[in-house]
Amino acid sequence: MAFSDLGLVPEILRAVEECGYTEPTPVQARVIPVALTGCDVMAGAQTGTGKTAGFTLPLLSRLAPYASSSPSPARHPIRALILTPTRELAMQVEESVHRYGKYLPLRITVVYGGVNINPQIDTLRAGVDILVATPGRLLDHVQNKTLNLSQVQMLVLDEADRMLDMGFMPDLRRIIALLPAARQNMMFSATFSGEIKKLADSMMNNPQLIEV
Ligand code: AMP
Repeated sequence: MAFSDLGLVPEILRAVEECGYTEPTPVQARVIPVALTGCDVMAGAQTGTGKTAGFTLPLLSRLAPYASSSPSPARHPIRALILTPTRELAMQVEESVHRYGKYLPLRITVVYGGVNINPQIDTLRAGVDILVATPGRLLDHVQNKTLNLSQVQMLVLDEADRMLDMGFMPDLRRIIALLPAARQNMMFSATFSGEIKKLADSMMNNPQLIEV
């Protein structure tokens, strides 16, 4: 299996090639073709399996038609939201999205707590296509009305089990309630507890279950 067999746009294949990846990892080979169809995906994957590219590559590929060099904030509504349990993971994921999306004019940013909120507000106001966030700080922005989630087409929950372990369930429910009902959901989790399944049932639409 080659990356070029998966259905990704050429801009992404070029970026992946520059990363030196020769072939997709098992989780990428399974998730990417399904995610590109717009289906919901629930994937069991540990850190180190290449799961980040597993959700980032199809997400970028599906947003490629919306990529725009226009400076107008109106051309850059938040179309994809990636939630992570920690600031460190949020930063890593944002870095990966930038790397894989470097040939697409999509605006990517990250917001997390523990730092001054004002620079984040300025960046959000200027327009962002893909937002990586930790749940608490995302809700701070919602409360400040510095964020509009009405155009979100894709939601990713990365390390969903850790998010629940850290007590983010109420925050997740509040965030999900703010999103358009018609959207694609991808959930990645190292484990599938009853609580994870309950969350999946409440937010996903007939998800394809992928375990590697
Ligand atoms: P992750 O599980 O997403 O944290 O990724 C683990 C590491 O694998 C990261 O350093 C990636 O850069 C790397 N990686 C992801 N996909 C591939 C691939 N297809 N081939 C080689 N390395 C990869």
